[in-house]
Formats: sequence, C-alpha cells, structure tokens
Amino acid sequence: MPLYTTDALILRTYQFGEADCIVAFLTRDHGKKRGVANGARRPKSRFGGGLEPLTLARLSYFERERRDLVRLSYAEPVRSPLLASDGDVLGYVEYFAELFDECAPEGDPNASLFRLGAAVVETLTGNVSIDRLARYVEYWVLRLQGVYPSLLVCHACGGDAARGGRLDPAGDGFACVDCAHEKGLMLSAESVQFLRAAAGTAPAAASGLSLSVGAGRELERAHRQLISVHLEKELRSFQVLRAMNPETS
Ligand SMILES: [Zn+2]
Repeated sequence: MPLYTTDALILRTYQFGEADCIVAFLTRDHGKKRGVANGARRPKSRFGGGLEPLTLARLSYFERERRDLVRLSYAEPVRSPLLASDGDVLGYVEYFAELFDECAPEGDPNASLFRLGAAVVETLTGNVSIDRLARYVEYWVLRLQGVYPSLLVCHACGGDAARGGRLDPAGDGFACVDCAHEKGLMLSAESVQFLRAAAGTAPAAASGLSLSVGAGRELERAHRQLISVHLEKELRSFQVLRAMNPETS
C-alpha cells in the first residue's frame, strides 16, 4: 500500500458508521480523493480540527489497490478558515468548499484549481470583501472548468466587448451589445470590467477590485445560473446564501 503525504484542501466530511468519517479532499498532484478517516468522530481523534471543510491540511493517506476510497492516517491543519472572525465570511466557507467539491473531478489533477483553493483559504483569514472574493472565485472556478469564455472580444463580430453584452449559459460564447440576441445573461460594461481585472489579479488582491453593488448582484445571479447549468443541479449552499442575503435572490 503506497503512502502519500501531501498538502490538501478539505472539501467535505461526512459520517461513516459509528466513529468514522469519509473525507473528500483536493490535492495538487493527485486531484480530488475520497478516503476513510478511522475514529475521526471520537472526541480525542488524532485528526483533531484537520478535517473541517475548506481547511488547508497536511495529510497522509494510503492508496489501496482496486479500492476507490483511500485510508487517511494523519491530518494536521495548516490554515483554517475558521480563523476568520466575520460571520458573513464564515457563511461562505461551506459554499466555497461545495463549489470546489462539485467542480473537481475525482482523480484528475488540476494544479491551478488547487492553488486557487489554497489561496482562497489564506485570503479568507485576512481583511476581505467577501462579495468581491466570491464573484472572483466563481469566475476562476468557471474559467478553469472551461465554462467562462473570453470576455475580450465578441464571438460574433470579433469586436471589443468592453461595453458589455450577453453570455450564453449553454456555452455559445459572449456576444457584444450590438450582436446580442434576446437570450443569455446580460453582463454590463462594469461587470465585464471586473471580470477582465479578475483575470489578471491574485486572490489576495480580489477585495481591492472595483465592483458596485448593482454589478455585484448582476454577477451573482449570472454565476449561479452558470454554475447550475454546468453542474446540472443547484448547489445546496445557494439556499443558505439566500437565507443570509434575502435581497439578492
Ligand atoms: Zn459583436
């Protein structure tokens, strides 16, 4: 049984039997894995706080031949999002974890997705504008999934799409205001500007990007629709976020 030791982003933990957990986690080199953490639900478990969602942890696991589930032997938190003191920020922790979990295919390494996740955990514990960070994270996750098309030019006329336009959630590209048909998600010039800036900004600087309340809501609605179309389901966390922020739904 080969033993791997790696940095991992904990995505989801669920109960398994009396005292055990199954943990989904994202690694840089081996993609998303799922494994059993024996005894993790006991009060004095050796896993401690290392298995909370969106914790960046140092962990080791055994890969078992012809088994989908690995066996976790050790987990130590490196960075926990629970260090964030802001209640709104904590409300987004489960959402980000679910978004990464649903978008990461099992066993298919994507170093960019891992780096994004790790940087988001770091960012959450600092001074953060959670709305801007959330739109930034959604943009990048969707982009790494190939869902977000280029927002530089219109796919129909090839012209600069800086004045905004419509995005086809079914993946037919981005059309400028002159070429856009009725269908599709409207993105204003301000939203396009935010997304273009997000494309060249590190997660730690996402809070400093300019985004008005109106454009933020437009992007929030557009991203929820893009995520739901891409995953062919609605994320559980959308309900929680709606309850936190009734005016945006
Ligand atoms: Zn056009």
